Amino acid sequence: MAREARCLCGALSITVQGEPKLVLACNCRNCQRRTGSVFGVGAYFGLDDVVERKGTPRQYRIEGDSGQSVVSHFCPNCGSTLFVETQMFQGMLGIPVGGFNEPDFPEPTLSVWNRSKYHWVEFPAHWHRMATQTPESG
Ligand SMILES: [Zn+2]
Ligand SMILES: [Zn+2]
Repeated sequence: MAREARCLCGALSITVQGEPKLVLACNCRNCQRRTGSVFGVGAYFGLDDVVERKGTPRQYRIEGDSGQSVVSHFCPNCGSTLFVETQMFQGMLGIPVGGFNEPDFPEPTLSVWNRSKYHWVEFPAHWHRMATQTPESG
């Protein structure tokens, strides 16, 4: 199965095959600002799962709350994030799930950076939860 995510104006798209290796909700302060929402939801696919890309994104390097950098690839025309590359998940791309416009997309299995989660956000009880982004930090 192939899925296409695209930016708001349609200048950029990325098509991936197969199921995501990981889907997570991130409540870090950078995802809050990057998305304008109160958390980001990213689906991680291997570089080998990318079957097509259209358009040329711009890059913005973010120093993460963890100290690890994240590179956001976004549309220079409309500003949507098409995908992110993180030090933590090398060899994979994190694609914002909203870009797929697919309400039946596989749900996240964990939420990270709950330390900075908005207090009124509640995730399903069966998701894993982490205060930051590593299991040791709880
Ligand atoms: Zn665009
Ligand atoms: Zn984040």
